[in-house]
Amino acid sequence: MRFDKSKKHFEDALAAMPGGVSSPVRAYRAVGGHPLFIRRGRGSKLYDEDGNGFIDYVMSWGALVLGHADPSVVRAIRAAAGRGTSYGAPTSQETKLCRLISAAIPSIERLRLVNSGTEATMSAIRLSRGFTGRDKIIKFEGCYHGHSDGLLVRAGSGAMTCGVPDSAGVPRGIADETIVCPYNDVDSIASIIRKRHREIACVIVEPVCANMGVVLPRDGFLAALRELTAAHGIVLIFDEVITGFRLTYGGAQKLYNVSPDLTCLGKIIGGGLPIGAYGGRAEIMERLSPAGPVYQAGTLSGNPIAVNSGLAALKELAHLDYRALDERTQLLCDGMVEGMKREGVGFTLNRAGSMFTLFSTSSEVTDYQGAKRADTAAYARYFWSMLKKGINLPPSQFEANFLSFKHSRNDIKQTISSHNAALRFAATK
Ligand SMILES: *Cc1c(COP(=O)(O)O)cnc(C)c1O
Repeated sequence: MRFDKSKKHFEDALAAMPGGVSSPVRAYRAVGGHPLFIRRGRGSKLYDEDGNGFIDYVMSWGALVLGHADPSVVRAIRAAAGRGTSYGAPTSQETKLCRLISAAIPSIERLRLVNSGTEATMSAIRLSRGFTGRDKIIKFEGCYHGHSDGLLVRAGSGAMTCGVPDSAGVPRGIADETIVCPYNDVDSIASIIRKRHREIACVIVEPVCANMGVVLPRDGFLAALRELTAAHGIVLIFDEVITGFRLTYGGAQKLYNVSPDLTCLGKIIGGGLPIGAYGGRAEIMERLSPAGPVYQAGTLSGNPIAVNSGLAALKELAHLDYRALDERTQLLCDGMVEGMKREGVGFTLNRAGSMFTLFSTSSEVTDYQGAKRADTAAYARYFWSMLKKGINLPPSQFEANFLSFKHSRNDIKQTISSHNAALRFAATK
């Protein structure tokens, strides 16, 4: 497999854009070499500028649960674009999208549309502060909530991949407002809340973490967060930017039966177009401007093309069988595990529904410290070996693989056979 054209495009990009990319993890720093430049996608497949085809498990970082270029989403986008690209005025489709989302996620009584997941979490934090009159926030080590200042503290994902757990340029004063707790550790957060609850506006968490690789909440972890926050008037925020409409039609809160005060969404709800949203209890949401004193605005928020794309995606998802998607993912994981056991390769596989991470470590991974034990050099070898066999995995150990409803049995078979060949390759290294 040749990557000559991608290499040339990357050299051009490096002279025009910092690191040659619009978002850091795309630059392949964690696996070496240069990234693929993409020409098009369709269903489960991605095609690069050199004409190579890949079965894709990045799926735009989880956004494309319907696969690339889903026909009904593309049709909706074309139709919307023909009616104008932005009005700066309300449309009835925004209300429709918000209603669809509230019906699927009942804890959301009111919803505000924004343009990215980052905007959703950043705004939900401000709203929590405005609502409680407190300044401190609690997040968990290895959870990623976008790149706003106060949330870029031990943030997993790209920050973890690029070896910068805390970004330069974040004022000390802002970082100091963020308290970080280990994921899955109820005792540690309970003790902090006991001592400092009068200062704490909110607790923000990925209910299933996907940004240090997939890490599942321990039994009772989310329920304990609900109880602790409710007892002290602290706003509980579930960041479901990845898990929303991924783990169920709804989100992780439906699966685990825990209702947060606020929920952040993004990725899937735009059908692949830039969008974000945050919503929850009416009493809190009605504090937002113009109803209340907490300001947040957006020139392109509720953009008609993104909203119609999201509407088409959610309408289609409402009729699809998530259990079948989970079973297909299980089939893939079972096949991969079988190969590794046969070859005696140490690993830990974490799966939640249609997302999973294969960690290059034999010790279990339940938090950030555990994830960091993974052998990233081994992952890089595995990544390239898979890529050359036509399988596009995330270019970092600390990301999730995503299946879509378009991944076929045949895709799974082909992936398992590439995986087995990649293991033999890694073993001979
Ligand atoms: C991707 C992601 C974000 C940020 O969303 P952007 O659209 O990239 O700004 C926030 N939270 C979680 C859990 C995410 O996975």
